[in-house]
Amino acid sequence: MSDYLIRVLSDKANVIGLACRTTELVETACRLHGTSPTASAALGRALTGGLLMGALAKPGLRVGLKFEGNGPLKKILVEADSEGTVRGFVGVPDIDVMVREDGKLNVSGALGTEGFLTVFKDVGLDEPYQGIVKLRTGEIAEDIASYFVESEQVPSAVGLGVFIETEGLVSAAGGFLIQALPPSEEQTIDRLIANIRRIGTVTDVIRDGKNPEDLIGMLFEGIPYVTLEKKGLSFRCGCNRDRIERVLISLGHKELTHMLEEHGEAEVGCEFCGAKYHFSREQLAGLIDDLESAPPQGGPQKLRG
Ligand code: ZN
Repeated sequence: MSDYLIRVLSDKANVIGLACRTTELVETACRLHGTSPTASAALGRALTGGLLMGALAKPGLRVGLKFEGNGPLKKILVEADSEGTVRGFVGVPDIDVMVREDGKLNVSGALGTEGFLTVFKDVGLDEPYQGIVKLRTGEIAEDIASYFVESEQVPSAVGLGVFIETEGLVSAAGGFLIQALPPSEEQTIDRLIANIRRIGTVTDVIRDGKNPEDLIGMLFEGIPYVTLEKKGLSFRCGCNRDRIERVLISLGHKELTHMLEEHGEAEVGCEFCGAKYHFSREQLAGLIDDLESAPPQGGPQKLRG
């Protein structure tokens, strides 16, 4: 299990801690989407943040994050579930490499510092949102922390890191999330803050060969805790031909007939994973037949196969 997450609890202090390594799944996502280094860092941070938030969701439920900014990357969408799977994409994957004065990849320059983070809970992105906050820095971690503080009133600290080698390979990715639930001891909080300051960046910790257990150990130094859970993490998209057919059917009779007459076939791509679904003339005609024999609007849609 190379990518995994652990969850710990300090019950005396009412503090929960999550830490994860996501190097492989971030590399997989970046390869699928052909992201430039800065877009890879932004996508990797958002995927990792999504997994940390997904780990707080009830079993079987999902969390969606939509970052929209005024930078050239435009947006990042991520969906994660409580089982440790995540999928996501960025608006413009091939933006030019942007480097800050200190030589680090400029994620806030790519996403932008003006914009919004919308968090959807328990459901996919088509459902009503749970909370929306202004981007705080556009660096992802601070934006997620600010969502928890402003929208859920839960004091939270988030650290996310992705390291991209010069040839574009993701060689380290991971993060942590710490939440203090009331009533929490001031002394413990001070200690946590001091520990967070001391570890420096998550990227450095993971590049240093430290695993999530080590990271939690550093964050909770001097604070007793128990480990509640350890689970594997992966990039996985839930798209399939049935779902894509439903999307096509939802376009309606007129649009589908136009598609058939104009192009004679259709290719539909999944934004989250880049998978392509091809529909031949016969298959498109079949969908139109289904629409014609489907019950009137409001009734259940008939699906082929
Ligand atoms: Zn997909």
